[in-house]
Amino acid sequence: MRVPLIAANWKLNKTIGEASDFVRALAPKVKGAQGVEVVICPPFTAIAAVVQGAAGSAIAVGGQDCYSKTSGAFTGEVSAPMLKDAGCTWVIIGHSERRQFFGDTDDVANAKLRAALAAGVQVIFCVGETLDERKRGEMDSVLRRQVLQGLKGVTEADLGRMALAYEPVWAIGTGVTATPEQADEAHGFVRALVRAQFGETAAESLRIQYGGSVKPDNAADLLSRQEVDGALVGGASLEVESFAAIVAAGAAETARVAR
Ligand code: PEP
Repeated sequence: MRVPLIAANWKLNKTIGEASDFVRALAPKVKGAQGVEVVICPPFTAIAAVVQGAAGSAIAVGGQDCYSKTSGAFTGEVSAPMLKDAGCTWVIIGHSERRQFFGDTDDVANAKLRAALAAGVQVIFCVGETLDERKRGEMDSVLRRQVLQGLKGVTEADLGRMALAYEPVWAIGTGVTATPEQADEAHGFVRALVRAQFGETAAESLRIQYGGSVKPDNAADLLSRQEVDGALVGGASLEVESFAAIVAAGAAETARVAR
């Protein structure tokens, strides 16, 4: 049984005050949620507020990105040790918006991933094809390249400190969700790539989240799929009620499997 990992990616949203109010409202709502892991990834400026608001709860905090170097003359960047110092235990790496708008190639994402793991920060590593790539029948080759190049130099032990997120780019922020069958199939393909590279045990214990317009009304169906081990949530993570409902769907899925 892989414990569902439900993560909020707030992107470029929320002031310190808004972030603080959110986490204080969320904490009691997810208090009783058993068998689910919850992570909030605020913008850098709100990390301290979320860490403070989440203290004493089971909510973990993550960065949305980090730089591959530890320190130095790299204006505007934040390193993995700095995230850790700020109280983050997770970081998102290789999000499609980083790949699309900020030049994060597979090699760049790989360097960031290794830097985060070296700093002792767990990683949500994102992969996923664009609509054009899917239409051209390139989904498998894109996922293969992103997984194999992205995980270069990663050991089996490292894999235990990370999760993958399958996020079809055409489903991110569009309101279009991959069907649970499409998600299950893509996750199965990604897991097979991991199995070939790292072996059965590592592949079976690795959590693969789905991301792309996850909402309270589709979360249960997506999370019930064999290969779907959580959700990376953008838009629906900005409201306490909708994010709490997705966390509840994760806890309900754990309870269902345990029965
Ligand atoms: C994301 O940004 O990772 C994401 C999945 O966004 P949304 O849920 O808004 O599609």
